[in-house]
Amino acid sequence: MGLTAASTGQSVAKGPDLKKLAGDKIIALAGNPNVGKSTVYNALTGMHQHTGNWPGKTVGSAQGVHTYKGKRYVLVDIPGVYSLMAHSVEEEIARDFICFGETDATVVVCDATCLTRNINLVLQTLEITDKVVVCVNLMDEAKRRQLSIDCEALSRSLGVPVVATAAGKGEGMKALSAAMQALTEGKAKTSPRRVSYRPEIESAIELLVPHLAPLLQNRLNPRWVALRLLEKEAGLETAMTNYLGFSPAEHPSLYEPLAAAREQLALLEADGLTLHDALVSDIYVAAEDICNNAVHAKQGDYNKKQLRIDRLLTNRLTGLPCMLLLLIAVLWITIQGANYPSSLLSDLLFGFEDKISSALSAIGTPAFLHDALVFGVYRVLAWVVAVMLPPMAIFFPLFTLLEDLGYLPRIAFNLDHAFKRCNACGKQALTMCMGFGCNAAGVIGCRIIDSPRERMIAILTNSFVPCNGRFPTLIAIITMFFVSTGGFLSSALSALLLGMVILLGIFLTLVFSRLLSETVLRGVPSSFTLELPPYRRPQIGKVLVRSVLDRTLFVLGRAVSVAAPAGLAIYLMANITVSGGSLLAHCADFLDPAARFIGLDGVLLMAFILGLPANEIVMPIAIMAYMASGTLTEFENLESLKLLLLQNDWTWLTAACTMIFSLLHWPCSTTLISIQKETGSIKWTLLAFLLPTLAGVGLCFLLTSFARLFSLV
Ligand code: GDP
Repeated sequence: MGLTAASTGQSVAKGPDLKKLAGDKIIALAGNPNVGKSTVYNALTGMHQHTGNWPGKTVGSAQGVHTYKGKRYVLVDIPGVYSLMAHSVEEEIARDFICFGETDATVVVCDATCLTRNINLVLQTLEITDKVVVCVNLMDEAKRRQLSIDCEALSRSLGVPVVATAAGKGEGMKALSAAMQALTEGKAKTSPRRVSYRPEIESAIELLVPHLAPLLQNRLNPRWVALRLLEKEAGLETAMTNYLGFSPAEHPSLYEPLAAAREQLALLEADGLTLHDALVSDIYVAAEDICNNAVHAKQGDYNKKQLRIDRLLTNRLTGLPCMLLLLIAVLWITIQGANYPSSLLSDLLFGFEDKISSALSAIGTPAFLHDALVFGVYRVLAWVVAVMLPPMAIFFPLFTLLEDLGYLPRIAFNLDHAFKRCNACGKQALTMCMGFGCNAAGVIGCRIIDSPRERMIAILTNSFVPCNGRFPTLIAIITMFFVSTGGFLSSALSALLLGMVILLGIFLTLVFSRLLSETVLRGVPSSFTLELPPYRRPQIGKVLVRSVLDRTLFVLGRAVSVAAPAGLAIYLMANITVSGGSLLAHCADFLDPAARFIGLDGVLLMAFILGLPANEIVMPIAIMAYMASGTLTEFENLESLKLLLLQNDWTWLTAACTMIFSLLHWPCSTTLISIQKETGSIKWTLLAFLLPTLAGVGLCFLLTSFARLFSLV
């Protein structure tokens, strides 16, 4: 079964295609954004759906299987929404899935620290279905803020089971499973609380329900359908017609009652109120009433503390400097921390090379194959692992800690003004942050931007920030060519320079966003509300494990799977001789004149071209090509590498241009495929290819011309 958002305009996300076996129960996981839905989902299914402390990150619907006491439950993590009165694509998906997804139960996950807003969604869900379990999550956070929540009172008021959880710590999960099981097996009876609306609305509903009930035959709740008909929800019309086989709004038996009901509502409108506003307000009053009975707050200065921190981190004067300091600090820890494990790993891996070599010889491997495997495949792999793994294993967890703490939306807040001035969307700062890890992920993350125009700008400019495949190259070049001192000062200076490279990327993101919004993607910036979530104590252990396992190893796995065949191919190219020179040398010679214009050489340009599958392999390719023997040098330390580069006529200009070109060139093939999928257009993909490339060529050309003009090299 497939549900597609009956959206107006371009659809951002689609409803899930369920994969279930006979007898499986379907459970929808609903909730406001950022309440821990994905954390609950992960805890129950053992899966690793992306979590992070900022609203709006769940852009698709994940599904996974949870087994409890021998029964299987297909859990569907639907996008977080504040309301089911659909105005956004996410709201439509959530509403359609709860209404028409034939779910056996809906678990509404709530944030215990701001229950009223969450109960709003619970009440709206209860209007659609009786089969609801309320999961009051983040109980540990509530406790820290001295909030006590009486779940039994809540359950009595709502008329459905309520379970308290702290999903981050795995607490309450068994109770949640038991409640789901009892409900889906009919052992728990519910008597859901229905919101009593003001008299005009209730009379209008009463006029419609007797006519709707026989038509709907228990397939949809007549009270809820009555309200939606009165609200004239166009998107729902189509979905209902598809589901029921007829359109309730156009059913002849409803003409008269509908007209009479609308007359009732005219009284409301005479008071200057729209039906929608009245509904929202009545639901809010009911939610407040329920929470007043169930939530007890002791005096605490928690909010004051949060406000004080926010005043520092999001203030006009201090926000940006704090952000820069944090960036430099993260980079410094990454660079400093990566040094030691990096050399340890290279000793280990290159030490292991002899053993592999002897083993291959012992089994009689022909010399050519032996060399290709050892000097081609293995050495490139060893380089990629030794140079890439340590910075990634440090940067990703640090980044995830900041995300879990709730800092990412503060970055978006601080940069909102700059993006607005470029006629782009402040949320682009969030997608840019995702690009630091992986540009392909950043491009997919652009789905959080609602306006198609602004989403396109964000997609086209995402590769202006360096992904993790490019960080190690940048760090290595900075360390070799621009920082001559050792120790603390050296890594601090490296971090500062790397920070400047990143700032150049951010600056160009803004410049190109502006350029696009004044040319091919003209328009005014849309307004959006960026919610600043409360700071939450990061779940350090979990963050470390997850970011190493999910992110680091994933990126490394991808790099390795590309590096191995690339290593072999490059080895072959370097060792197959045609008219007195290797294939690799011929290609490099051919590219050399063009490359010189932009401060590179033929080898480097070729390495960038051959590195299209993954940025991680650019440096290994270049190094292998520089080696006269056509094999990658042993990576003893950066000094030996620097020597090799100097022997191949590298100057500070080559180093600077390689860094610029590494920051600004075509996106890797995975990112290009993601762009093609997201935009559905070759034309936009081509533009995404050209923009950073032209910027890189332009900047390198300018710098080279300047340096040559003033004889700086
Ligand atoms: P979603 O947007 O509703 O899917 O929310 P996530 O599952 O991504 O969680 C939002 C943030 O809250 C993340 O930073 C989680 O680590 C954190 N979180 C989730 N559940 C808990 C919990 O029970 N306790 C605490 N302290 N943090 C939690």
